[in-house]
Amino acid sequence: MNISDAIIRAADVARPQARRGRVADYIPQLRALDPELFGLAVIELDGSEHVVGDVDIAFPIQSMSKVFSLIVAMQKIGGEQDVHRQIWQRVGREPSGDPFNSLVQLEHECGIPRNPMINAGALVIDDLLIEHCADPVLSIRQLVGELAGDPIEIDFEVAAAENDASQRNRAMASLMAAFGNLNNDVDKVLEVYNTQCSLMMSARQIARAMRFLANDGTDPASGRQVLPSSLAKRVMALMLTCGTYDAAGEFAFSVGLPCKSGVAGGIMAAAPDHSGICVWSPPLDSSGSSLAGRVALHELTDRLNLSIF
Ligand code: GLN
Repeated sequence: MNISDAIIRAADVARPQARRGRVADYIPQLRALDPELFGLAVIELDGSEHVVGDVDIAFPIQSMSKVFSLIVAMQKIGGEQDVHRQIWQRVGREPSGDPFNSLVQLEHECGIPRNPMINAGALVIDDLLIEHCADPVLSIRQLVGELAGDPIEIDFEVAAAENDASQRNRAMASLMAAFGNLNNDVDKVLEVYNTQCSLMMSARQIARAMRFLANDGTDPASGRQVLPSSLAKRVMALMLTCGTYDAAGEFAFSVGLPCKSGVAGGIMAAAPDHSGICVWSPPLDSSGSSLAGRVALHELTDRLNLSIF
């Protein structure tokens, strides 16, 4: 089946499933999202864009930003050995099997988060970015802007609302500081995290931004090496095993691609040697990923035979 037919069929199957999910309600801007919104974008390495639905409406990328902040940290730190010394001593690489904002494991494991795709891990990455970048959010924003081929805005009202609702994240950051795994001021780290969650991108832009991972670390649009292929491979491994939290097993089983979800209902994926993909449907399943989004990716990858397995 060709890509254009496959995305239409996947959208047809997935859209009605959205009503089984629930839109995130911890901040007003997410609570207000229309549950009927749905967009699916598949952008091939040669630049061919296949889209259906609401692919040009920007929404907060939320936890999808954790992939981009990790990439900036890897870029700033440099080679694999330095990345190992500076990142993997402070953040693990195991799936958590717990919700993305769980505090339980962090206490048991002495302030070392399981992986950089859960909130605690992303906070440690932001702590590192504060040391390595003059303006961490600007660095993330420049990266996504370059990859998407469009300037990317921040919704500062979303960021302020995130800050008002950040009690659990604050608790995680404070606990990690108590264990000596946070070097900067908790408020400063939270500000970076809340602002990166509030970067506004459309499904089309996010799909474009995923293509370099599908292309061994080199952005096919510009020819620039964003990451060496050895590190691009590691980022995709983390997305596959940890990018959808305690549903990562189900995603590997039914979708079979490295994916990262966000609580505004976006899920991005990299299909190696094929395309960057993003689906957006705000209602979430119980693990915090888009319900219809997962169904759409399942349908799409089955029809196009895209699973890496
Ligand atoms: N802003 C959200 C939070 O920190 C992001 C989580 C997510 O998208 N899963 O809780």
